[in-house]
Amino acid sequence: MSEPTNECLFCRMVAGEIPPDVVRETDRTLAFRDINPQAPTHVLVIPKEHHATLGALVGADPELTAELVAAAHAVAVQEGLVTADVPEPGYRVVANTGPQAGQTVHHVHLHVLGGRGLGWPPG
Ligand code: 5GP
Ligand code: ZN
Repeated sequence: MSEPTNECLFCRMVAGEIPPDVVRETDRTLAFRDINPQAPTHVLVIPKEHHATLGALVGADPELTAELVAAAHAVAVQEGLVTADVPEPGYRVVANTGPQAGQTVHHVHLHVLGGRGLGWPPG
């Protein structure tokens, strides 16, 4: 948890100070479109509670971690990237952690990417 939150961009979105382009919301999670999309679907899925990294979230609240992953999958279904039965055309979930991975916002978020072929390995 730690760092509240008036200085955290994503906490300010949760608080409604900066209105995100919401695609899905639950009691404890929020999903909104990335401002600088890297694919036709590029949605960020966050816990409403502030946790800086995936590891911090896992340590503090495994149940919320599971909810976050479920929310990412639900966004992919909603965006038409998979169905209940068929994992096609497909999607990718990314959680950048730390400087080498390029984490720039220190409120844990899952990127849900899809709608085009995604190269592997990533850059
Ligand atoms: P990271 O680099 O930390 O994994 O991802 C941060 C993401 O947040 C980036 O993809 C970036 O485009 C996105 N982002 C940064 N500022 C904003 C904003 O004000 N609104 C939205 N919707 N996304 C943002
Ligand atoms: Zn935050």
